[in-house]
Amino acid sequence: MINPLQTVLGQAGFGDWRDIAYLVAAICFIFGIKKLASPKTARTGNALAALGMLIAVVATMINLHVVSYTWILIALVLGSGIGVVLAARVQMTQMPQLVALYNGSGGIASALVAIAEYAHVDRGGEAMGASSLFIVGLGALIGCVTFSGSIVAAGKLQGKISGKPVILPMQMPLNIALIAIAVVLSLVLMLYPGAWWTIPLIVVVSLGLGITLTMPIGGADMPVMVSLLNSYSGLAASAAGFIIMNKALIVAGALVGASGLILTAIMCKAMNRSLANVLFAGVGTADSTGTAGRESSFGGTVKSADPDDVAIILDSAQRVMIVPGYGLAVAQAQHVVRELSDQLQAKGIEVMYGVHPVAGRMPGHMNVLLAEADVPYEQLLEIDPANAEIDRCDVAMVIGANDVVNPATRHDKNSPIYGMPILDVDKAQTVFVLKRSMGAGYAGVDNELFILDNTLMVFGDAKDTLQKVLTALDEV
Ligand code: NDP
Repeated sequence: MINPLQTVLGQAGFGDWRDIAYLVAAICFIFGIKKLASPKTARTGNALAALGMLIAVVATMINLHVVSYTWILIALVLGSGIGVVLAARVQMTQMPQLVALYNGSGGIASALVAIAEYAHVDRGGEAMGASSLFIVGLGALIGCVTFSGSIVAAGKLQGKISGKPVILPMQMPLNIALIAIAVVLSLVLMLYPGAWWTIPLIVVVSLGLGITLTMPIGGADMPVMVSLLNSYSGLAASAAGFIIMNKALIVAGALVGASGLILTAIMCKAMNRSLANVLFAGVGTADSTGTAGRESSFGGTVKSADPDDVAIILDSAQRVMIVPGYGLAVAQAQHVVRELSDQLQAKGIEVMYGVHPVAGRMPGHMNVLLAEADVPYEQLLEIDPANAEIDRCDVAMVIGANDVVNPATRHDKNSPIYGMPILDVDKAQTVFVLKRSMGAGYAGVDNELFILDNTLMVFGDAKDTLQKVLTALDEV
């Protein structure tokens, strides 16, 4: 049966109309990604990329080879349903593990497409080209590595698996051996198209490789691994695209592969670490709260303040910098932060936000939170402009941030986060640190900011504390 739409478009001179649709989709993806680079345009970018995907899906569905839409519709309804429920229920702080699960699903889907195409072509008696056969093996390899690696990453981030780095004996030779076995099996498949037995072996070896690659990575570095796995899922999708000759899949996969890799590089740069160090050094601890208690392991004196003290000092300030971190997301304190800054501005106090690129648990985490509370973009300063302003600030208010304000990164060569650029909040006249305890941050290292002369710890849940500060400010 000839598809009527295809006939009409064909008669109108659009013989290859699907290619045009894929081109439009690719343009939407590219401009969508470009717009994601700024908080101002990110929403439009997301919508544009989604539109591109809709165009690509519809163009693919209007296909002569589709014999029945029943299973497609069932998958569509099921997938959309799960997506809507997850999007509504998942907390912002759980977003990295959700992304990991999405990557894993993409990886296994691409591996299954590659394997199914091999089985399908084989059954039909048509010979698959040598390069396509090799790509089947490669697609299964990358897709399965992405799947098992993403499951381990999500498990570690969710606390279902210990976040501690697990380094096996002979870790590196083991990884290299697993990669070599999978590639050799793919070559065997290429040379002997009937060697179907290589496929289950590639799947098993690759699933194992995904686990051995991800287990040595500490909790703190897991978001970087998630970004890298995102890149792998793109490569797997591209491989699947080559196998079934779907141009949209090839382009979308390549874009995901490249952007995931670029994001990984940006994250490594923001932490001043090499990718090899992130992947193999085993930095990080199991939990993000560290040891609770008010004793400092530096032996210095910790000074604390209550919300009333904070309100009095804020009231007499002229310039205040707010530095949000992961704890702000945990406390969901973004709206009350906005209220506080509105109140300070109403008193004629200048307020700005210093946003570190790896504050929180994913790139842009703080931007998304603050945008949710309608904090004006103009008040958000990236690390360099923020540091240029900080010594002119009367108050730096650190809300649930820890590693990204740890001055040890500047001088302590033994610190695992040595060299990471930080927001130099210690250079402000007075520093308030709002957190629940003296516990360490995600990297598991003590923070000497807490014992500096100009630092006052304000213990408690960030949202509670800020609400009390707001009330106290009213009364000052
Ligand atoms: P940290 O994880 O260093 O510290 C967060 C602090 O928030 C904790 O010390 C905790 O202290 C406090 N906290 C938790 N809950 C609350 C609450 N309800 N109220 C108040 N405080 C709370 O956060 P940062 O944002 O400073 O640093 C991010 C870390 O993640 C860095 O190590 C970074 O390298 C890493 N990372 C980030 C990536 C990204 O893309 N954003 C990617 C890769 C790694 P307490 O328990 O005492 O309350």
